[in-house]
Amino acid sequence: QSDSISPSPDEGIEEEKPVAEERPGPVQIVRANESDGIFQLDAAALEKILLQDHVKDLNLVVVSVAGAFRKGKSFLLDFMLRYMYNQHSDAWIGGDHEPLIGFKWRGGCERETTGIQVWSDVFVVEKPDGNKVAVLLVDTQGAFDSQSTIKDSATVFALSTMTSSVQVYNLSHNIQEDDLQHLQLFTEYGRLAMEETESKPFQSLMFLIRDWSSPYEYDYGLKGGQAFLQKRLQVKNCQHEELQNVRKHIDSCFSKISCFLLPHPGLKVATNPKFDGRLKDIEDDFKTQLAELMPVLLAPDQLVEKQIGGSKITCKDLVEYFKAYIKIYEG
Ligand code: GDP
Ligand code: MG
Repeated sequence: QSDSISPSPDEGIEEEKPVAEERPGPVQIVRANESDGIFQLDAAALEKILLQDHVKDLNLVVVSVAGAFRKGKSFLLDFMLRYMYNQHSDAWIGGDHEPLIGFKWRGGCERETTGIQVWSDVFVVEKPDGNKVAVLLVDTQGAFDSQSTIKDSATVFALSTMTSSVQVYNLSHNIQEDDLQHLQLFTEYGRLAMEETESKPFQSLMFLIRDWSSPYEYDYGLKGGQAFLQKRLQVKNCQHEELQNVRKHIDSCFSKISCFLLPHPGLKVATNPKFDGRLKDIEDDFKTQLAELMPVLLAPDQLVEKQIGGSKITCKDLVEYFKAYIKIYEG
C-alpha cells in the first residue's frame, strides 16, 4: 500500500498536533448545484492544487475519465494513482490484499454530485527528452440516464474534454450507436464554446471498453481495440447519412483516437458488496490488461502535454482556462 494515500494511523493524538497535515485526496472542483443545476467552479480549490510552487510553471498533462456512472471510472483511476505513486516500480499494481483507495468508487446506488474531481497531488514526471511535466488526474460524474441529466452530463463531458489532453471515454461492453451520438453532442457542446482554429479542437480520445466479451473476434488490449474501432468508425457510402456524419464529426474533433478492450474483472468486482478492491479478488486477465493499459496512458514517453490553440499550457494557464470555460456553462 502506498504510504502517501493510506489513512492516518495516529488517531488519539490528533488534538495535540497544531496543524493536521493534509492528506492527498479527491477534490471537487466543478459541481452542478442541486436545486438550479447551475455549474460552479471552486476556483480556490483548483488554485490551491495548480498554483503550488513546484508545478505552477510546468507544462501539464491532464488525463480525464468520462462516461456514464457505475461503469468503473473511479475504480480505474485508483489504479492510475497506484501507477503514478509507484512509477519506478514494477510492483506498482500493489499487493494481493490491499484495499483499493483514492477516488471513491462503488458507493451503493445513491446519486453522486454531477461534476468534476481532481486528485490533490499533481505528479511531476521527467519525459525522455529531459523536460519535466505535471500530471493531473481527473474524475467526472454524470448520469447520462434521462433527458434532464443528459444536458448536465454534456456539460461535464465538454468541460473535461476541453481541459484535458487525454479523455478516456469509458464504455461498457461495446460501442453502441448512441454512445457515438452522445459523443457527438458532447463534443459539439465543447467545440461551440471554443475559438475556431485550423487545428482539431481536442487532443487524444481513448474509447475504453469494459467487460469486452469477444476476445476471439478482437483481442483484449490496444491492438484488438484499434482493429475494432476502425471497423466501428468506418464511414461507408451505404450507411445512413446520419451514421456517416457522426463518424466524420468525431474524427474532425480529435487529433488522435484510440481504443482499448478490457476484459471483465470477475464476479466479485461486479457483484460482491464486500469487495474492497483487493487484487486477490480480481481476475488475472483483467490485471494483465490493466498492466498493459497504464503505461499506454501514463508512461513518461506517452504523456501528451495539454495544448490550447496550438501551444502547450502550464498549470497556471489551466486555472485561467477553467475560469473562462465555466462562464460559458454557468447560465
Ligand atoms: P463510476 O461511477 O463509473 O466511477 O464507477 P465506480 O468506479 O464507482 O465502480 C462502480 C462499480 O463497478 C463498483 O462496484 C466496481 O466494483 C465495479 N467495477 C469496476 N470496474 C469494473 C469493470 O471493469 N467491469 C464491471 N462489470 N464492474 C466494474
Ligand atoms: Mg466515480
